[in-house]
Order: sequence, then structure tokens, then C-alpha cells
Amino acid sequence: MKIPSVKGFHDVLPGESARWSRLEATAREVFLRYNFAEVRLPIVERAELFRRSVGETTDIVEKEMYAFEDRDGTEVTLRPEGTASAVRSYVEHTMQAAEPVTKLFYFGPMFRRERPQRGRLRQFSQIGVEVFGRDDPGIDAEVLLLMSDLLRAFEIESGEIGVNTLGCSECRPGFRSALVAWGESKRDAICGDCQRRLEQNPLRLLDCKQPGCEALRETAPKMLDHTCLACGEHFARVRQLCEFQGVELALRPYMVRGLDYYCRTAFEVTAQGLGSQNAIGGGGRYDGLVRSLGGPAVGGIGFALGVERLALVLEAQGVEPPSTTPEFFVAPLGSAAEEHAFALAHRLRSAGTGVEVDAGGKSLKSQMRRAGKTGAPYVIILGEDEVAQQTITVRDMEARADRRNVVGLDTNLEDLRAALQAARSTEEQA
Ligand SMILES: [Zn+2]
Ligand SMILES: [Zn+2]
Repeated sequence: MKIPSVKGFHDVLPGESARWSRLEATAREVFLRYNFAEVRLPIVERAELFRRSVGETTDIVEKEMYAFEDRDGTEVTLRPEGTASAVRSYVEHTMQAAEPVTKLFYFGPMFRRERPQRGRLRQFSQIGVEVFGRDDPGIDAEVLLLMSDLLRAFEIESGEIGVNTLGCSECRPGFRSALVAWGESKRDAICGDCQRRLEQNPLRLLDCKQPGCEALRETAPKMLDHTCLACGEHFARVRQLCEFQGVELALRPYMVRGLDYYCRTAFEVTAQGLGSQNAIGGGGRYDGLVRSLGGPAVGGIGFALGVERLALVLEAQGVEPPSTTPEFFVAPLGSAAEEHAFALAHRLRSAGTGVEVDAGGKSLKSQMRRAGKTGAPYVIILGEDEVAQQTITVRDMEARADRRNVVGLDTNLEDLRAALQAARSTEEQA
């Protein structure tokens, strides 16, 4: 009996995984330009970490965590997001002692028990960054510029960065009251979940996905109209610094993000190609979080992008995953040739190129069929004659020509490439 994978947990198959590798390699390159360093965080954390950071009343903590009791009684969970783990690590290793400003990036899977849908799986992969130790608008702008550079490096064409301010502990209570008053006045029109949010977490009224609640939103108060002077100035400066660099930010006055710890600058990235669920990531500032998890009173800001979603957007844009095609396919004919093929393939691979080698027992026809499937531009044929003459025959698949006796069986990669190039030029001149 076959054993299927678990609902919401997918394989990333060859081909698609090449796209993932490229996304991660590109991200790593851009992060290093901004002086971020990689941190590799564990997948299992104490459940308490997310209850205290993400928030007790969020969907993530209430319904979606893969939490369980470990054999020693510790309540642990598969991490549902990366920021709390990064903060935990920062605090645990007193990173602020080595550097007052800490800039980290991470890649890896996160786990949330949501209803699986396109681009939204129970195990999903994120690319994220966090900055600890700065709370000035300059660093918020730098993080937004980084996001913009990243989208460009990924070749995401339709990416849009939406921003909002969520205020601070000074001004948010006033906004919260205004929101509750508004919600009370709409109590009969809003959904059941929102009626509950009204008591527990009124900010979340603003990101309800129910059509009825969505339609009412335009009449809701905006944080931007309730900020204290400092929050207002901070937000204006962030937008101005980005504008100076030609990075466009769309103002999203009702965006609140799903997590409790955000304050001041919050942002979300959307792109075409995902249907209605068009967010590919987001982030924001979380100044109280490090302290609330036992660390110093330093500011923090970060973001995460969903790799599945980035991949879907690229696919919708028609961007092909990078090729993993080998340069050479070695086709030995007979057991004597097989040993030579094995040695030649090893020599070429050691010199740094991709080689696929077949078993010698098959016919040339069947090996050529396989070679065609790999897409290798050159097929090295090693038959009895070639072995006897200590040479190889190379079929140039593009030029549809056989190169005989151009190099010896003991050739190295450099000579082989030069000979194939020379054969092609001679042909083109003729
Ligand atoms: Zn404020
Ligand atoms: Zn609602």
C-alpha cells in the first residue's frame, strides 16, 4: 500500500526546487550587500515563545500551532513564524553585547495548521530578515529599500509594497477606542468572528476577509489620523526616505498585519499571479518585543516572504526555473566502454561541469533517447571502435553533427570544449 504525504505538506520536486534554490541564492546575495548575516534557527521552540510574542488571541496561536507535549513534559511547537525565534536567539546569545546593531536573515520552513489552498500550505517556507538595535526611521526605510531590491533581483514585475503605521503604546489606545466605538455602531453588520474581536483584539476587525466586513471597512477610523506626534513624524520620514530613492510605497490605511507585536511601520508586499490571495510577504516594526521576551529594550524591525508564493508569481509571469541540465551525456556501448565512460565522466565532473552517464548494457538508440530527455547539448559516444582507437565521438545535439577523433579518450574538460568550439566555427565558416 502506498503511503501518501500529509495534507498541507508538499514535496518540492526537482525543477521547482531549482527555482527555490535560485530564490534563496539571490536573497542571500542581496542580504549580504546590506550587511545582514545568516542565522539558522531550530524548527521546534517552546510554545510559550509564540503565546507571548505572536499573541494569545491570534488565529496562529489559538488554532494553527502544531504544539505538543514533549516526553519530558515541555510544551513545544513547530515554529509558526520566524521573528519570535530570531528574537529568542538574539536574547539567548546576548548578541547586543557584540554589536549594538544586529542584522539577521534566515531561510526555512514554518508550520501553521490552516486550511490548505493554493500557495498556502501547512508547511511553508520563508525568507526573512530582522534588525535589532535601531528604532529610527532610517532603518525602516533601509529595510523597505532592501525589500524593493529583493523583488527586483527576483525579477518579480508586479510587486507592490503597501505601508501603514500602527502607532505606539502612546497613541494606539486612542485609536483602539475609536475602533471599538466604530465596531459597536456596526455590531449588527459585522461577522461573528469580528464581534468576538471587538472585545479581544479590535485591530483585527480591519483585516477580516468576510465580504460584509470588508465592505464596511472604508467607514472605519484610520490609525494615521490617530498617531501621536512622534509616530506621525516617524512614518512621514520613512516614506520620504524611500521616495528620495525612487521606491514607491502604496499607503494602506487599513492594513494591520496578523500579529500582535507590530508597532509603527507595517508593510505588506503583493504581486499578481496568485488570484485573490495576492500577498507574498510583509513585516513591520516591533519595538516592545525583544524586551517582552527578556531582552534589552531595543527596537526591532523585520519581514518575511513566502517562498511558495514567490515561486507561483514567477511561474505566472512565465519565468522559467533555472536549468539543471548537464553539459555532457556519456553513452557507453558494452562493458569495456563502460569503465572508460565512468572514468571520463568522473574527470569532467571533477573539472566542474555536469555529466550524466548511462549504463553500457543499453542500445545506442535507447541511450540517445535518454540523452535527449536530459537536454544535454553534447552526447559522448564510447563504442568498441572508440575504445580501440583511444578516442571519443561527440554528438553536437544543436549542430546535429558527430565530431570524431577531435580529442583522445584521456581528454580534459578544457581541451574537449575547445575542440567542440573549433569544430563548430569551422563548420560555420564553410
Ligand atoms: Zn505613537
Ligand atoms: Zn468580520
